[in-house]
Amino acid sequence: MQNNSSKNETVVKAYSIPIQADGIILEFIEEYHRMARVVLQEILNAEKFTKFERKQLRDKLLEDWKYANHYVDSAINQMLGLVKSYRRKLRKGKKVRKPRLRKKFVYVKSTLFTLKGFILKITIIPREYYLEINLANYPYILPLLKEVWSGNLRLGGLFLFPDKLVLNFVKTVEYFEPRDWMSIDINLTNVTVLAGLTVYRFDTRELYHIHRVYELKRQKIQGISAWNKRLSEKLLKKYSGREKNRARDFLHKLANKIVGIARERRMGIILEDLNGIKERVLGGSKSLNRKLSKWNVRELQRLIEYKAKWFGVPVVYVNPKNSSKTCPACGGHLIPQEGRLMKCLKCGLVEDRDFIAVLNLRMWGSGVTPKGLEVSRASTLNERPMKTNPYGIMAIEEKQRIGLKFHKITPKPP
Ligand SMILES: [Zn+2]
Repeated sequence: MQNNSSKNETVVKAYSIPIQADGIILEFIEEYHRMARVVLQEILNAEKFTKFERKQLRDKLLEDWKYANHYVDSAINQMLGLVKSYRRKLRKGKKVRKPRLRKKFVYVKSTLFTLKGFILKITIIPREYYLEINLANYPYILPLLKEVWSGNLRLGGLFLFPDKLVLNFVKTVEYFEPRDWMSIDINLTNVTVLAGLTVYRFDTRELYHIHRVYELKRQKIQGISAWNKRLSEKLLKKYSGREKNRARDFLHKLANKIVGIARERRMGIILEDLNGIKERVLGGSKSLNRKLSKWNVRELQRLIEYKAKWFGVPVVYVNPKNSSKTCPACGGHLIPQEGRLMKCLKCGLVEDRDFIAVLNLRMWGSGVTPKGLEVSRASTLNERPMKTNPYGIMAIEEKQRIGLKFHKITPKPP
């Protein structure tokens, strides 16, 4: 179990704004790219890139570099980072490609720009040429700008591309002391959340609908590939981008909803550690579907964790092994019943498997039983036809679990 509630961390929110670089700016980006490639080659060729070699390279590059000197340092640091991580992977015996610079962009560190009000001013050639961008033209970043002005956020290094500028808003987060914990179980067709005594169940079948629509499109496109391979590849790429965007949009809303509950109720979040992927979720489906469901689960976790961090909500991970097969009341073995019900062979408990999973995660992750929670003998969360709600993302069921009395729940260590 990793707990991040004790230390401070920085979280970055990146926003991209469209720009159109031309003239000097475009030339600058091109020249930076050429220079960075030279740097990369030099570092790769050097046995050990010493301080002396670094200084030599820097001096040589500066001879015909008319832009701010900082950009040369920036490029050296950036390329050093690339090569270091490449060599680290090599040492570990991983298969890695030699680093190459494909995308043209410039890293603009914070000493090379200023933000005054709405005006972002980037130094290109000191005292001679600056790139000025009026951020008032991008109203969607206004909430973040206000936070920068009030000192809650800072603007970190920028990425300047020919067609966009990426702004990185950096927040130092302080995790709050949770009043309670919320556990999350991600399944094929729903996401179940236990927050205090409330169980929320979110319908995620819309996601599968999205993937299904694109699967059909892919099949059609594959028909084209026989006579036009390039066209079919192009179409496949286009649709896969759209599919991911639609799915991501859905997952964003769902993650917002879940993190919103945690913030409102000052709860920490318990997620499943998927480093030994959940076969239960992925079982039985075709390989592409498996890949997509894996992607969905990981993407949702990533979004929840990221959004939680941004608001100082502590997050812990627990090993989910047997979380839906272990009786939360006595630790006995559960066997499947009709529908999604599970029954304990030892104590006779009958419960919904998703509820069992979140309850176990909740206990294993926080070490205690939710106060006042009683597990009922008869399930109050029966299978019901779920209604899809693609836009609002609402919990399809929200139930207070204060039901029939059952025996005391003994937490079982994972
Ligand atoms: Zn039991």
